Amino acid sequence: MPLAGRSCGTCTLCCDLPEIAALDKPANRLCRHGIAEKGCSIYERRPALCRDFLCLWRTDPSLGPEWKPDKAGLMIYRQGPQTTVLVRPDQPDAAAREPYASGLRLLAGQAEAAGGYLIIYVGEKVRRLRPID
Ligand code: SF4
Ligand code: SF4
Repeated sequence: MPLAGRSCGTCTLCCDLPEIAALDKPANRLCRHGIAEKGCSIYERRPALCRDFLCLWRTDPSLGPEWKPDKAGLMIYRQGPQTTVLVRPDQPDAAAREPYASGLRLLAGQAEAAGGYLIIYVGEKVRRLRPID
């Protein structure tokens, strides 16, 4: 459920960073329907997968305003046991800065306590983050 008082605003990271096969969209390229820092040009008829998607910042009250994806330079989402962090390729150190580095270790700990795991993508590079490396 989306948290009250949180909206995407000018953020468009989930239309840019993930690969979306159903839209023939590669990773790290804005969807052909996307308008940078504005939103979706087909918003009223966007596909169900877009309607149903919420990043973790939209649903997790433990993530404060500094975690809004367009502010943090990264977006986080959960799918089954996997917590995925996608870092903007033009801000490759975003996940290494504080408060994000510590916060992501906490999220990795939560994921592992629930039997899952957390992975971070920076462009083509992917790694698993452990609560304590
Ligand atoms: S990444 Fe999150 S805040 Fe940004 S547009 Fe997508 S759902 Fe909204
Ligand atoms: S169709 Fe619209 S909401 Fe879906 S990824 Fe493309 S720009 Fe974003």
